[in-house]
Parts: sequence; structure tokens; C-alpha cells
Amino acid sequence: MPVCARQWLDRIHALPLPGKVRIMNVCGGHERSISMAGLRGALPREVELIPGPGCPVCVCPEEDVYQAIQLALHEPITLAAFGDMLRVPVNVPKGNVRSLEQARAAGADVRPIASPLDAVRLANSQPARPVVFFAAGFETTTAPVAAMLAEGAPPNLSVLLSGRLTWPAVATLLESDKPGFDALIAPGHVSTVMGPEEWSFVVERHGLPAAIAGFTPVSLLAAMYSTLRQLVENRRLLDNCYPEVVKPGGNPTARRHLEQVTKVVDAAWRGIGVIPSSGFALRSRYAAHDARLCFPSYESLSRKRAGQMPPGCDCARVVLGKIYPNECVLYGRACTPRNPIGPCMVSDEGACRIWWSSGVRERAASAAAE
Ligand code: SF4
Repeated sequence: MPVCARQWLDRIHALPLPGKVRIMNVCGGHERSISMAGLRGALPREVELIPGPGCPVCVCPEEDVYQAIQLALHEPITLAAFGDMLRVPVNVPKGNVRSLEQARAAGADVRPIASPLDAVRLANSQPARPVVFFAAGFETTTAPVAAMLAEGAPPNLSVLLSGRLTWPAVATLLESDKPGFDALIAPGHVSTVMGPEEWSFVVERHGLPAAIAGFTPVSLLAAMYSTLRQLVENRRLLDNCYPEVVKPGGNPTARRHLEQVTKVVDAAWRGIGVIPSSGFALRSRYAAHDARLCFPSYESLSRKRAGQMPPGCDCARVVLGKIYPNECVLYGRACTPRNPIGPCMVSDEGACRIWWSSGVRERAASAAAE
């Protein structure tokens, strides 16, 4: 008989926890489910849930957003992007266009889309005009983009690819002096595409309990129980708590498309810096659809700085799980979903926006004191 949320909570409360336990949840979808269901308040006081680097909009490097804005403003193209990307701000002098939304207001042809299929439709509807698809996202987003190219995209459609792999960010945290967590809840959707095996390094190399969860509170509680029980019983394993969807080896078709169309490269993460082997780039045989090769680069070295967040914005530390969103001094004051300062308040997968949307209005004592 399936176990309900109340029963999982009872089991968690019955565990003789050794003291404070910090569980990182990587995925923005997990954070949304946890926050909206109020799971933090229902868990034992010893359990801390830490949102991690699972928001693709938040980590998309500033130079890529800037490049998309400049292409939209200066090239005779239509720029298509997922809706969240339109409001992401870049650092430019006051009065300059700082987001795709502002570029559109300034007359650029910028279209929000929901899927690669929309980009294909858009390109087919205007065959004489180039369409650049600004594709920022993790494995789950990059795989359909790869499929679109593998199956044959319209000749006037190119991709400004800003794809990232999630596990290298977690590996970077674990290899640092202070990872900041004792157990991991791995993302279900990414594991569906890439296979659960991708997360085994957490257990095998770092000796931390790990469990893969789906997106319901029940699945998340099952994964939390699994990792906590492993800690209590001093066992370690990668537990697949989303077996109805996550299969060994992942999705072979999606992986084949990724392998055919992309290669893995070192890549910049906004506010974090370059993480080795953490990005997707198009293979040379897709050069005719690579917007980085088809159009001028508006990049400059001065834009490739480590601290790429707007002044005062602590998104980098929020993304790395070093602080909670309401520990940022701007949270709820200068920065709200209506007037976002940083990318974590823009995206539906950003921890700041999720916390605000779930009703967290009070700032942490450390932030309130400043
Ligand atoms: S509250 Fe706003 S300024 Fe602060 S970290 Fe979040 S997005 Fe950045």
C-alpha cells in the first residue's frame, strides 16, 4: 500500500537523529514543492533543507544574456527565448537596455516561447528572417534542443546554446572545504534523462547518503526519510525514490541526441565562475545552426568577471546553498518578484522567488540587522 505524506513524516520523526542534519535539494522544482507544501515546518527541528544550484536561469552567465540582448538589438533577427529569460537583468550603465524584456520595449523582435517546437514553428512561419533561439537550461532542456537539431531544424533557425549539467556543480561543492550539507536529494527529471548513475559519485566518492526524488511532497519525504535513515544506520547508497520514471541508464533516445549534437565543455556559471566539464556546446557539424558562429560576438573580456551579480545581490551564495534567500539584505526590500534585482527573484525556479511566492516575508535576523 502506498505510504502517504503523514506516514513518511511519522517515520522521519521516529528516527533517532544524531543531531543537526543538512539535506541539499538540487532542483528548483523540488524547492518549489517543499516550500509550497510547507515541508520545512513539518520536519524535526534538527533537519535543515538547503536549496541548491538547480535554477538554470539563475546560473546562466551574464555574458550569454548580454549576447542575446545585443543580437536582438543590433541584428536583423527574431530572438526567441523561454519566458523566464526575458526579465533576467545584466549589469550595464543606467539607461542602457538591461534585459530582453527591455530590448523588446526598445523595438527588438523578442518572442517568449515554451519549447523548441515553438522555435521551429516560428522559423517556419518567417523563412526569410533568421530566428535565434536562446536556449538556456539544464540537461532536461538541452536534450529536446538537441533532438530538434538532430531531426533537422529549419535553415533560418540557429541556437545560442547555454546548456549546463547539474552534477558538476554539486561535485564542485563537495570538493570544496565546506560543502555545507550532509545528504543529497538528487533531481528526478535530470535523472530521467541522464540516468540515476550520474549521482553515484555522491555516495562512492564522498560518502554521503543520496536519494532521487520526484516532485510531489510524498516523493520528497520518501527521499528525505531514505537519506536520514542511511545516516542513522550508518549505511550509504543512492536510493531511487522515483522508480516509476527514473530508469537505469536514463532515456537512451535523449542521451543519443545529446551525444550526437553536443559536446561537454568547461562552462561559466553566473556569479560562481567556470566549472570544468559542466556545459554543452554544439558540435562542429551543427555549425550552420550555431548562433555563436553565425552572428557577431558582442562579448568582451571586461564582462567576463567573476562577480556577475548586480550590486548587493547575493544570488551566487543562494545558488550554492551558502545562505537562505531571506538572508540577502535586499530580499523583500529592494528585490521582489515585481522588481527583481537578481536572477533568483526572476525565475520560477529561483529560490528567492519561490520563498517569496510561498509567503516568506520576514528576513533572517542577520539580514534584518543590516
Ligand atoms: S533577494 Fe534578490 S538581490 Fe537578494 S539574492 Fe535574491 S535575487 Fe539576489
